[in-house]
Amino acid sequence: MLLTVLGTATPYPQPGNACSGYLVQSGGPLSGDRQSGGPLSGGADAQPRATIWVDAGTGTLAELQRHTRLADLDAIWISHRHADHTADLLVAYYALRFSELAPKRPVRLIGPEGLLDRLAAFLGPNAAALLPEVFDFTPMSGWGETEVGPLALAWGPVQHGVPAFGLTVAENGRRLAYSGDSAPCISLEELAEDADLLLIEAGYAEAPAGSETAEAPAHHTPEDAGRTASQARAARLVLTHIANEVTPAVAVRRASAHFDGPLEAAAPGSVYEI
Ligand SMILES: [Zn+2]
Ligand SMILES: [Zn+2]
Repeated sequence: MLLTVLGTATPYPQPGNACSGYLVQSGGPLSGDRQSGGPLSGGADAQPRATIWVDAGTGTLAELQRHTRLADLDAIWISHRHADHTADLLVAYYALRFSELAPKRPVRLIGPEGLLDRLAAFLGPNAAALLPEVFDFTPMSGWGETEVGPLALAWGPVQHGVPAFGLTVAENGRRLAYSGDSAPCISLEELAEDADLLLIEAGYAEAPAGSETAEAPAHHTPEDAGRTASQARAARLVLTHIANEVTPAVAVRRASAHFDGPLEAAAPGSVYEI
């Protein structure tokens, strides 16, 4: 299984770094052209890969096209409705509806309940009827699971102040876990338990000061990310969506005080073999 980082920026895209988005693909080891960032190999012995676009943050649709074609996606999975995870669904709709990329059948879209209505509200009255022709929508409202080709997906609710979900993807006994946007919470630990790679956000530079009126936490600090990975006994930790006040190197150093395993910060274009 391959995890490709399309973008990690929060809460707005930056030059050279889109907002949250990843590709998860079934399949074997990296081929030469994948490592150079080219399109997927179409060699005679190449196995078709199931491909999932995980979070459609601003700028990720452009990055996705470095690695695959929008119309060739097997599914799109959206962690929660915030624009830095969903905004490119709006232009994906244009691409799939009005361009040469229009697929033969709707693309599977798995996302929080009500997501399609929110897209329709922005796109305008005609879109409400047309969206189901573009996206075959599966709403998430609690714990759930499905299969996309050889990839087994499972998700559960996490703590982020809006309906938000963490994800695991498994293939051949190997498992990726992704926090989406989330504060530390027991359901994320459960999802991440024994993951071979845990991709976890670190959207807080510091935890918000507690007070009776303060909202519940919505993100991890780097220290939290290390603690969650340790609690879950994840084999490897990749930090993403890191608060702008913290450099990736500092975030890794801070997280490493709480996690003993391999640890790094995601960067756009990075590919992880799981
Ligand atoms: Zn969010
Ligand atoms: Zn976010």
